[in-house]
Amino acid sequence: MSDYAGGPVAALRRIAFLLERGREDTRRIQAFRSAAAVILPLGEDEVAARAEAGTLTDLAGIGPSTAAVIADACRGVMPDRLAKLEAEHAGPLAQGGRELRARLRGDCHSHSDWSDGGSPIEEMAMTAMELGHDYLVLTDHSPRLKVARGLSAERLTRQLGVVEAINEHLGGTFTLLKGIEVDILDDGSLDQEDELLGRLDVRVASVHSKLAMESDAMTRRMISAVRNPRTNILGHCTGRLVTGNRGVRNQSTFDARAVFEACRDNDTAVEINSRPERRDPPTKLLELARDLGCLFSIDSDSHAPGQLDMLDYGCERAEEAGIDADRIVNTWSRDRLLEWANRG
Ligand SMILES: [Zn+2]
Ligand SMILES: [Zn+2]
Repeated sequence: MSDYAGGPVAALRRIAFLLERGREDTRRIQAFRSAAAVILPLGEDEVAARAEAGTLTDLAGIGPSTAAVIADACRGVMPDRLAKLEAEHAGPLAQGGRELRARLRGDCHSHSDWSDGGSPIEEMAMTAMELGHDYLVLTDHSPRLKVARGLSAERLTRQLGVVEAINEHLGGTFTLLKGIEVDILDDGSLDQEDELLGRLDVRVASVHSKLAMESDAMTRRMISAVRNPRTNILGHCTGRLVTGNRGVRNQSTFDARAVFEACRDNDTAVEINSRPERRDPPTKLLELARDLGCLFSIDSDSHAPGQLDMLDYGCERAEEAGIDADRIVNTWSRDRLLEWANRG
């Protein structure tokens, strides 16, 4: 038995983080996050008293396995479950890209439970801080993506207030930045009011509908979006899915050279989407964008805190493609990023 000084909430959060990072089943993970939320407001003394008396499982949301973790952590003992996960899952997710990963200052694409993410905004922000990021851009979906509970103008406006409040509480060097993953509509326009887009810090624009559109129309659609002065980053450009529980999906077809030239000419970064399900752009297109002189953004596109660490995968791919760190916008300082994103 080894010592553990983190306390029960940290132990539960760390287990959830490692499970998410290891792409385990989300329902099992949710049990640990819910248990942390149940004991957080109770205070240390009550939690310790319940652990001692064996009454933790009387609380709604605490089962035998989460109770065991809490009891160990209260006694200052490393919980078995956590020790096992640290041993199996805590190492780097990818072999390559380590140097580049160390140079990343933040992440430009993430989701909270305001749209289709699984955790509250503050949990995403706290985890990003713990990973050593200087900034995280919160990019929940736009209104037309109803399956993902895309934010109306009214909800996004409300969210901006929440982001400001969170930043006031953080007060340190970390900043949660205001953003959006805005849908690229069929005609290439963006799915949010322009004035509201103008109030954000960073905007990712992505195609989520009619991915099978005929090539010429898709090319026009994407070029029109990357030329929009509000667009900073072209998200997961082909839309393909290569693995995972949503199945596989072919990449959409478009004139990649024309789209990437438009990205380069308009200073729009091409996203290297780190999610193993996506690996987007495919290697050939990544190399094409590299050769054309595009900027890039290595994004986690995380929908859970543990997925914030998936940047490792994107860094490995960027390194393999030989992309210069200085062409990757999230190696830049927050101020440089903001200046680039709001130069219009
Ligand atoms: Zn997306
Ligand atoms: Zn996304």
